Amino acid sequence: MDIMIIEKTICFFCSKNKTAICCDACKLASCKHCSYFIDKDNFEFMSMLPKKLINKTFCPDCYSKGINKEIDEFHDILRRAKAVNVYSKKQGTETRFFRRIEKPVKVENYDDRNEALLHLTFLAAQKGFDTVVDLDLKSKKVNLDGNYKKLVWSGTAVPIKVNA
Ligand SMILES: [Zn+2]
Ligand SMILES: [Zn+2]
Repeated sequence: MDIMIIEKTICFFCSKNKTAICCDACKLASCKHCSYFIDKDNFEFMSMLPKKLINKTFCPDCYSKGINKEIDEFHDILRRAKAVNVYSKKQGTETRFFRRIEKPVKVENYDDRNEALLHLTFLAAQKGFDTVVDLDLKSKKVNLDGNYKKLVWSGTAVPIKVNA
């Protein structure tokens, strides 16, 4: 069995603590007090973050010189996503006069229905839309190991702009 030896160096930023954590952008060593962790413990709905940020660690320098802006933008889109108006496919009568120009947004295999819906409205809000119509969210059973089954949610919706 290989034993990995992680050499600990002094934190480049506070010069106080020893650390084995490297910034995922610039590779400088920063201790756990100085580092910014983009992980489940610190982020709700992490799967909606840009891929290059998910489960990454950044030093205070890289964080303050750009990563923080991307995080702020994520929270801004999330805030707008929560305010997006949602019309289901069944509400065709109500939405028949809305013009559908944009291609549908799509999500797949979410454990939670509300999170699947939020991700759909997130994708719409990201493109500047305030409403989704023709929401079609479906669940299916998938087999996990053994005979345990779980429900996963997938769906589509068409983003539109109602309030110009
Ligand atoms: Zn430090
Ligand atoms: Zn860095």
